[in-house]
Amino acid sequence: MGGYFDHNATTPVSEAAREAWQEAVERHWHNPSGLYREAGAVKRLLEDLREELADYFGCEPERIVFNSGATEGNNAVFRGVGGGGRVLLSGVEHPSVRDAASAMLGERVAELGVGASGAVEVETLMGELEEGEIDLVSVMAANNETGVVQPWRAIGDCCRSAGVRYHCDGAQWVGKMSMGGLGECDLVTGSGHKFGGPKGVGFLVLPEDGRELFAGQRGGPQEGGYRGGTEDYPGIAAMMAALRERVKGEVGAAENREWFEVELKSRVDGVRVVGAGGERLWNTSMLVMPAHPNLKWLTRLSGLGFGLSTGSACSSGKENPSHVMEAMGLGYDEMGRVLRVSSGVETERADWEALLEAFEAVWGQLESGERPRGSRSLAEI
Ligand code: PMP
Repeated sequence: MGGYFDHNATTPVSEAAREAWQEAVERHWHNPSGLYREAGAVKRLLEDLREELADYFGCEPERIVFNSGATEGNNAVFRGVGGGGRVLLSGVEHPSVRDAASAMLGERVAELGVGASGAVEVETLMGELEEGEIDLVSVMAANNETGVVQPWRAIGDCCRSAGVRYHCDGAQWVGKMSMGGLGECDLVTGSGHKFGGPKGVGFLVLPEDGRELFAGQRGGPQEGGYRGGTEDYPGIAAMMAALRERVKGEVGAAENREWFEVELKSRVDGVRVVGAGGERLWNTSMLVMPAHPNLKWLTRLSGLGFGLSTGSACSSGKENPSHVMEAMGLGYDEMGRVLRVSSGVETERADWEALLEAFEAVWGQLESGERPRGSRSLAEI
């Protein structure tokens, strides 16, 4: 699908990942905990991959736990916090952070506001840290809805000097941006399907000290005892093959996205880009359209072969307010008009051009009240 612009939701499995998976299921399907030669070989391969991932993070392999993805990792983090102090989350965290934290820690959870740009202000965090009694700070590396990048390096430094643990949800960062320095965060969660790996595979980076607190899934002694359950070696091998390609430099650049935003503004009068003032991932545009509900846009764009999303704000901002959009000060009316465009490494300039034309065509149809060709009436959709 050349018109696939929903990579922040999930990505197609890369060729390298597919090959790695195929080879693993054919040759290395044995249980890595087994006590025979073939199983030992899988165990060694698994440990090699752990070392490779640790190298990308710049941390010890003992800190890496392979798991089913970022939701599992985020749950393990909040289950393990301990203590009795406050836990600070940014107002734009993913539901797997927000909901896990509030379910497990209730009133201990406090929100750290973001500025209009969608980024946490480091001075605000420093003020909170000075007040004391904080057991964990959780601020993602980059936001799934807007692509807004958080100052995670500075946040990590502040937390380190205050002696407070820092968790960084890296699901949208890893595989898109350089991983250097991310291992300095105490806890990092990530997900393979966001960068060309299969779904249901991911990782959690554990802290240097007190790792046992974050042992998530109980069971056998796999993953150093921090996560019971037979490892999905083929899935892990595929995820690592996908990541290896990204780390080798095959990450995208913002040029095409920038071009698209400028052109779109000139063709669809009044369109606005959320978080445009600050640093964003190279692949994401959260647009506020000037008119018409986002579901109408999505349906018509889909009819033309383009897959986009609303982020998490659905058709009516009022019924499904996006906490991210709310935190960034959008009104309900605007929330009902947001559309997220998220590209991938395989997206080419021609795909962006085609998307732009589709936007222009849909804008024309919606403004003139014209029905999309061969489709049902909008009331039926
Ligand atoms: N955190 C962020 C920022 C995400 O974008 C996602 C996926 N939408 C997750 C966590 C959950 O990841 P997974 O699908 O691996 O559970």
